[in-house]
Amino acid sequence: MKVLVAVKRVLDFNVRVRVKADGGGVDLANAKMSMNPFDEIAVEEAARLKEAGAADEVIAVSVGPKAAEQTLRTALAMGADRAVHVLTDQDTEPLAVARLLEKIVRREEPRLVILGKQAIDDDSNQTGQMLAALLGWGQATFISRLTIEADAATATREIDGGLETLRLKLPLVATTDLRLNEPRYASLPNIMKAKKKPLETTTPGELGVDITPRLEVLKVEEPPQRKGGVIVADVAELVDRLKNEAGVI
Ligand code: AMP
Repeated sequence: MKVLVAVKRVLDFNVRVRVKADGGGVDLANAKMSMNPFDEIAVEEAARLKEAGAADEVIAVSVGPKAAEQTLRTALAMGADRAVHVLTDQDTEPLAVARLLEKIVRREEPRLVILGKQAIDDDSNQTGQMLAALLGWGQATFISRLTIEADAATATREIDGGLETLRLKLPLVATTDLRLNEPRYASLPNIMKAKKKPLETTTPGELGVDITPRLEVLKVEEPPQRKGGVIVADVAELVDRLKNEAGVI
């Protein structure tokens, strides 16, 4: 069984986000970029399926600028066998990424596609769902457990207030939640080996997909600064301040 994983290069989750002076977006100049954390979980799951003998090939795909190659090399060092880079300098919206992934899925014919539940840069949480719809496949989103059998899978989903367990036919699209696994660090020998693994580059044009944005970002703002708190002496003072200062009661 082939497994395809989608990995996005995003601003590292530890970096403090700075908004561009003109409010036109997030300032990425000289910022540390990394693989989207939910995509690390996707690669880890695919690597484990391969180690368990349930998968025989893992293909990592990324859409993005030249530097997305580094993200693919990380996926290769974590256990993917080969990579496909869809090279573009344009901002890509979830529908565009889903359409590009659809083309690659139709060519590669994996039985399972694993994506992150969301990319932490724009928190869209749309690509996996759109890809499943374009392919006409079943989908298991926000999974915290996945078991693959011959022609089916059992997936546990994290939903409000509990867990939902689904049985699905293969092929399917799955998106990862935080509790699915703990991704490994790529070891130095594996980073070295990853440099020799195949990495193919293509473009949206070659795949015949128009990725012209359909959305326009009007403005990006920093969240309002929090004012310092105060410790009140007693309930009477609290009520007084809520009434007369905050004006909320
Ligand atoms: P989103 O719908 O943007 O929140 O992204 C959900 C998931 O789709 C991510 O965790 C990735 O697995 C995948 N994805 C989104 N954008 C890209 C991209 N440019 N390249 C590869 N995978 C992507």
